[in-house]
Amino acid sequence: MPELPEVETVRRTLAPRLLGRAIEEVEVFRPAQVRYPDPETFRRSLRGRRFAEPGRRGKYLLLHLEGGGVLICHLRMSGRLYLTPAGAPRAPHTHVVFHLDDGQELRYQDQRTFGGFHLPDPDGRGTPEGLLTLGPEPLDDAFTPAYLHSRLAGRRAPVKAVLLDQSAVAGLGNIYADESLFRAGIRPDRPAGEVTPEEAEALWAAIRAVLAEAIAHRGTTFSLYLDGEGRAGDYYRLLRVFGRQGQPCPRCGAAVVKSRVAGRGTHWCPQCQR
Ligand SMILES: [Zn+2]
Repeated sequence: MPELPEVETVRRTLAPRLLGRAIEEVEVFRPAQVRYPDPETFRRSLRGRRFAEPGRRGKYLLLHLEGGGVLICHLRMSGRLYLTPAGAPRAPHTHVVFHLDDGQELRYQDQRTFGGFHLPDPDGRGTPEGLLTLGPEPLDDAFTPAYLHSRLAGRRAPVKAVLLDQSAVAGLGNIYADESLFRAGIRPDRPAGEVTPEEAEALWAAIRAVLAEAIAHRGTTFSLYLDGEGRAGDYYRLLRVFGRQGQPCPRCGAAVVKSRVAGRGTHWCPQCQR
């Protein structure tokens, strides 16, 4: 599933080729992928609009439009949003196509169909609930060790569950939560309230380092993710625990284990993480 580094990579790869382009037509092949408004209003509202600089919040891609308004895209499990020449063969599971004024198409492909688009009204109606309740961006100054500790304090839930809670911190998912906890030496199933301020600071630093490195490597392609130009991310080979169950821990050599924490398959080292 695309997380912050993958969505940021999509944003960065789309930005130079999307900026200033006008939408000439919109084709919706699977109406359920347009979450708001209805597909016909969606088409009519977007025809003739021009893309401004794209942004991102958490795992939401914010395709701002010149003159106001924003086309919001969430890739969920398997969404791909990429630019391609209009004549290129259309891949299976292509649900929405935006025809641009320079002969390119912005295509939305989604095998598992959990993702899609919101185009909120000018008064904000239609904005996805999850976007309104997002916590701070982990790479911004507002995300501090003290803030992270305050969100963990008093909680009996596993520390990993708090990292996955988008209202605590935006953009982390299963891959980067596991990698961050490994680097910080914290067991994913520890009750969050037992994490000390010193450990919270180590976790804060680990989250920022892991995300920055993953962005620099254009994200992780574990199964279906591709960037805005249809390329895979290569952070996969730098993963230390995620997907490496049974293989030696890169720090101590003990076998990485996989167990279920916070309802998710979780990878960790029983020696290095306490
Ligand atoms: Zn280890």
